[in-house]
Amino acid sequence: MPARSFFPPRRILMGPGPSDVPPRVLAAMAQPTVGHLDPSFIELMDSIKELLQYAFRTDNPLTLPVSGPGSAGMEACFVNLVQPGDTVVVCINGVFGGRMRENVLRCGGTAVVVEDEWGRPVDPAKLERALEEHPETSLVAFVHAETSTGARSDAKELVEIAHRHDCLAIVDTVTSLGGIPVEIDAWEVDATYSGSQKCLSCVPGLSPVSFGPRAVERIESRKSPVQSWFLDMGLVMGYWGSAQRRAYHHTAPVNALYALHEALVILREEGLENAWARHRKNHLALCAGLEAMGLRLPVEEGARLPELNVVEVPPGVDEAAVRRRLLEELSLEIGAGLGALAGRVWRIGLMGASSTPRHVILCLTALESVLGSEGAPIRPGRAVEAARNVLAGQK
Ligand SMILES: *Cc1c(COP(=O)(O)O)cnc(C)c1O
Repeated sequence: MPARSFFPPRRILMGPGPSDVPPRVLAAMAQPTVGHLDPSFIELMDSIKELLQYAFRTDNPLTLPVSGPGSAGMEACFVNLVQPGDTVVVCINGVFGGRMRENVLRCGGTAVVVEDEWGRPVDPAKLERALEEHPETSLVAFVHAETSTGARSDAKELVEIAHRHDCLAIVDTVTSLGGIPVEIDAWEVDATYSGSQKCLSCVPGLSPVSFGPRAVERIESRKSPVQSWFLDMGLVMGYWGSAQRRAYHHTAPVNALYALHEALVILREEGLENAWARHRKNHLALCAGLEAMGLRLPVEEGARLPELNVVEVPPGVDEAAVRRRLLEELSLEIGAGLGALAGRVWRIGLMGASSTPRHVILCLTALESVLGSEGAPIRPGRAVEAARNVLAGQK
């Protein structure tokens, strides 16, 4: 059989990421490849660092995109900050907290787990208690926006508690960056990692990270070398650090970085505060529509993530069949439940370029139509109206 080119279908991406990638970002990616030490590329790298500082609201010089997906950024934070024998308190309220624990163990650390029910934020009182019971702890890790459950935790408060107990804090901002406030400097977050394909609406495969002064100090005073050569920030900085002394570490994903740059330019043009407000409004409209349809949103109102909406599957409905029909009939992707929530919920993303009134109305219309024809117990004819009222500001 002769080899054939691949032409992907055109989807509307409303799952837990990737989100819709704007044509401008895709066009940026199709520009000619240059060398990863080309003077023009070095300029682009500096611009990306600056734009990431803007997005993260930080002046941290050690702010850059790791060449790998969000999971690589997660690993970068842990391998650099955890040494064998360290005790780390890991807050788990969903899938991604579980992965943080796995990272701690693989770095030779001891993980003390603070658990909260899936769908609820991390409980600050439990973190406080764990730190009192384990004074040897040197690091706290938690997920700001749990994509698996749709719950937002109070990052500012959790970091404050960590610091009060002389611990550094690693915060997962993969799903929060660009969608809800992330204040790396104001909250004094020591290390954070994000992803390109969620609220930044860039192609997948890059992970913006930022390390604050306390984290840099801890990395510099390590007794053992970082177990990962590729993710050793000391080495990566030889390439991403001072523009005068850039040296080869690994070949940067040049074209993917064009894309990230363009996605960040788009965010800058809109303005962070405006992006947050847009995510919030479209979320409120979607929720109003889903509830008018008679669907249940399990996360309590104050903890809901605007960019990731978790909806209970009504009784008797085959959730996979609904997703399949949305994809086949309307080319619309929504997410399935993950881990403990598999089969019980859908996850509807309104991330980045996928957070528009058009996405809200389309999703409500499509869901109502498919659920209706699957015989689900919903109230037809109300959802779009309810969403429109919110969008028109008449909530
Ligand atoms: C998506 C996600 C990750 C992992 O990112 P990948 O790009 O899939 O590796 C980590 N944490 C959270 C909260 C996420 O939503």
